Amino acid sequence: MKTVFSGIQPSGKLTLGNYIGAMKNFVKLQDEYHCHFVVVDLHAITVAQDPAALREQSKDVAALYLAAGIDPKKANVFLQSHVPQHAELGWMLTTLTAMGELERMTQFKDKSQGKESVGAGLFVYPSLMAADILLYNADLVPVGEDQKQHLELTRDLAHRFNHRYGEFFTIPEVYTPKVGARVMSLDDASKKMSKSNPNPGSYISLLDTPAEIRKKISRATTDSDSVVRFDPENKPEVSNLMSIYSECSGLSLQDVEKRFEGQMYGGFKKELAEVVLSVIEPMQERYREVRESDELMNILNASAERAREEASKTLDEVKKRMGFVL
Ligand code: ATP
Ligand code: MG
Repeated sequence: MKTVFSGIQPSGKLTLGNYIGAMKNFVKLQDEYHCHFVVVDLHAITVAQDPAALREQSKDVAALYLAAGIDPKKANVFLQSHVPQHAELGWMLTTLTAMGELERMTQFKDKSQGKESVGAGLFVYPSLMAADILLYNADLVPVGEDQKQHLELTRDLAHRFNHRYGEFFTIPEVYTPKVGARVMSLDDASKKMSKSNPNPGSYISLLDTPAEIRKKISRATTDSDSVVRFDPENKPEVSNLMSIYSECSGLSLQDVEKRFEGQMYGGFKKELAEVVLSVIEPMQERYREVRESDELMNILNASAERAREEASKTLDEVKKRMGFVL
């Protein structure tokens, strides 16, 4: 059976972008693949986190995985920091990564832009991400478009390791949705929607109240020509809202365009809010149940134990090949 790996950082409240770009595909893949869906807390600390908030957010992400439909009987759901092999292999792959490769990463450029001091962890983050994936010899990595460049580096590192130490790592493939691989900010369609954006009006959180969601969508930036048409180049804001509509309703972009032919943005946005709520509200209900129950930690602990077993096999082989004394 082929293996899937993906993770989401507990760096804030999960957004509709995280759901459409990544989590929705997790649910689809769990029936056919051996899956690891991970709360990547070691990645979250590449920018400053409040310890109490990080703890809560980590459990929130895990509960949202389950609420979105990930079945812990089918997939492993755990916290990255519970499996120390991630950090160990991360270090080894860091030593195989060139500074120039990391300097080219657009996420590093975006996240470090304008900052007086940037942690070294933010810089070497892609090597840790490569370790996450290679540790389980994942075949497929369902992520949003923004992670494609990191996945390319993961593939390069796998090839490099295999070349130096003999064929070992599986070369993973990226898996992105056709529509919604890059959900844009509601206030600025040139930036992707991000949970760490300091302006909460820029994103829809999976934990926002219905009133907040309606308000955020009604305030989302549009353009002045009042035509609901999919044209990402000339109408990036409206096209983004249409992609969200399409992903939440199951209608094709063409059908969304037809449905709102001749209508004003106001009506389109009102209906969009309801379509988004039809996805989010049932998820929130399940989330509240899971988040309160004792089962959550049991599931995370049992999954981590299975993951440690798998990961330690890979790591032992890597250590052997790299020349460590076992
Ligand atoms: P942060 O701002 O802290 O980086 P984030 O919203 O980018 O948070 P991540 O934890 O970095 O979330 O990414 C989790 C997953 O969600 C990844 O697969 C990523 O590609 C996907 N993703 C993030 N933002 C979007 C988006 N706007 N559209 C589609 N997919 C997205
Ligand atoms: Mg991100």
